[in-house]
Amino acid sequence: MATYHGPRCRICRRHGVKLFLKGTRCSTDKCAFERRPYGPGQHGQRRRRKPSDYGIQLKEKQKTKRLYGVLEKQFRNYYAEADRQRGITGENLLRLLERRLDNIVYRLGFAYSRSAARALVVHGHITVNGRKVDIPSYSVKVGDEVVVRDRSQKLHEVRMSVDAKSGVGTVDWLELDPKRFVGRVLELPSRDQIPSPVSEQLIVNFYSR
Ligand code: SF4
Repeated sequence: MATYHGPRCRICRRHGVKLFLKGTRCSTDKCAFERRPYGPGQHGQRRRRKPSDYGIQLKEKQKTKRLYGVLEKQFRNYYAEADRQRGITGENLLRLLERRLDNIVYRLGFAYSRSAARALVVHGHITVNGRKVDIPSYSVKVGDEVVVRDRSQKLHEVRMSVDAKSGVGTVDWLELDPKRFVGRVLELPSRDQIPSPVSEQLIVNFYSR
């Protein structure tokens, strides 16, 4: 299963926004974006030329891909499916990305970051409707129950993350029972229920060229 293994803080710095790709570190003063809020590399602090429309659209697509931990081909497939569906293509795309099992595990607070959530799924710590699912891209449906397996509930990282999340709650289209490590999908989210810093219309424009 392919995934991005490059430096994640560079992504935030390149896009000029905190994408919270590293879990707890992102909320501390060790965050690379807080310490160096300019582009990465030797020329990161130089004033850059105004990017073209194409450049802006490409950057937004790259940012969204990295945010959800999806590679190029898979992202293109998501876009093709979003385009086939009824409704607004950009919203459909975000909804498809939000339905990924690794994203749901992250939103429920079973992991501090999407990459940690992906690892939990891949290593078989998660069940959906009572069955082990180890595919991060698995698409959950309304009513699905996502649970951390009994033996995995003892994992220190999982416990810490759930404790932190139980104080703030999750997104309103999911339900979390932090004591039982159980989450449920109440509905599919509308755009305003997706707290991702993404301008999806730019991605639509990119693929519609
Ligand atoms: Fe981005 Fe987190 Fe790295 Fe900060 S610590 S730059 S938010 S990945």
